[in-house]
Amino acid sequence: MELARRAVEISPSPTLAIDAQAKAMKAKGIEVINFSAGEPDFGTPEFIKQAAIAALEADFTRYTPVAGIPELRQAVCNYLQQRGVSYEPSEIVVSNGAKHSLYNAMQVLLNEGDEVIISAPYWVSYYEQIKLAGGVPVVINTDANTDFKLSAAALKEAVTPRTKMIVLNSPCNPTGSVYSRGELEALAEVILAHDLVVLSDEIYAELLYDGGSHTSIAALGPEIKARTVLIDGVSKTYAMTGWRIGYAAAPANVAKAMTDLQSQSTSNPNSIAQKAALAALTGSQEPVKAMRQEFEQRRNRILAGLRELPGITCNKPGGAFYVFPYIGALFGRKFRDQQLNNSTDVAAALLNHFQVAVVPGVAFGAEPYMRMSYATSMDAINTGLERLKQFVSELK
Ligand SMILES: *Cc1c(COP(=O)(O)O)cnc(C)c1O
Repeated sequence: MELARRAVEISPSPTLAIDAQAKAMKAKGIEVINFSAGEPDFGTPEFIKQAAIAALEADFTRYTPVAGIPELRQAVCNYLQQRGVSYEPSEIVVSNGAKHSLYNAMQVLLNEGDEVIISAPYWVSYYEQIKLAGGVPVVINTDANTDFKLSAAALKEAVTPRTKMIVLNSPCNPTGSVYSRGELEALAEVILAHDLVVLSDEIYAELLYDGGSHTSIAALGPEIKARTVLIDGVSKTYAMTGWRIGYAAAPANVAKAMTDLQSQSTSNPNSIAQKAALAALTGSQEPVKAMRQEFEQRRNRILAGLRELPGITCNKPGGAFYVFPYIGALFGRKFRDQQLNNSTDVAAALLNHFQVAVVPGVAFGAEPYMRMSYATSMDAINTGLERLKQFVSELK
């Protein structure tokens, strides 16, 4: 059967593919150290699970309003208020994960040929979702020297009359970089000067280390808020990736369009998961604090271990749960007669010979780096670092 051009042009998520390969090896009994996961390794906090059980037992199992139950949309407003942004429930659309929220936003905002600026390293789905909406991804490369951050000057230079949108992701997957208020202000100035829309993916907003706090670009003032679609969800903050609840906060006309689109595609997100998300947002935030502290210790450990390895350098990420070491000094060297030419070669050698799964930087549009997730146990981190050390020491 002949597929539509749209389908032929989709690339499957490389991060999910590597994670699947690592899990398949594990299933065969091979002891894989998996640094490729894009999700917390913790269980969902108990009181959240209890809320879901209660919803199920109360037969909360029918269609809900398309944009989510009113209590949940109100809870999202209250939650975002703490971030310094005020929204009405009518400006909130709850979807099947933040990924779905991003997809809906692109679908209702982009026309054929609209340019969307993303900075590399980028989260893989932005690129494909832009294309699926008929947009044209315009990639601005950044590197470790500028902590992988997009400067206002680089943004300004990339803007053309066809530019419609810029996607921002702070804290960032895959780099863990965090934009400061000043950096966001400078970007906002350019965004406003050119009437752009900013899609602000804030899914890691609660995972900041060293006492840092999150700034949303929407919180910088009413003008920039009116040009922002803010995306967040419960997946990363509450270890709820499988529940599939994310949301968008957007100007009312955009929220309405996203709701209408959703009404013709997926309808409401899962009713039971909505009750669980409501509990997550309104209940104790102690589990979040505990997970954040654990992530911070792991970040410190993995960073220290990586920095001991000759040829590897690594910036200190301020948020999320990834490190993005520079591996350019390994290129051109040989591992058991095989020359390493790029991040894919390094990732393949690590997986095949050391059972260590990492994601090559090229998957995020960036060489010469690799992404390692520290959403795994401290024991696994230590074992993985040992294996990496062995790998590096064997290079000729
Ligand atoms: C995990 C992730 C998402 C999607 O989260 P879901 O709510 O599970 O769909 C969106 N953006 C980034 C950068 C992510 O890492």
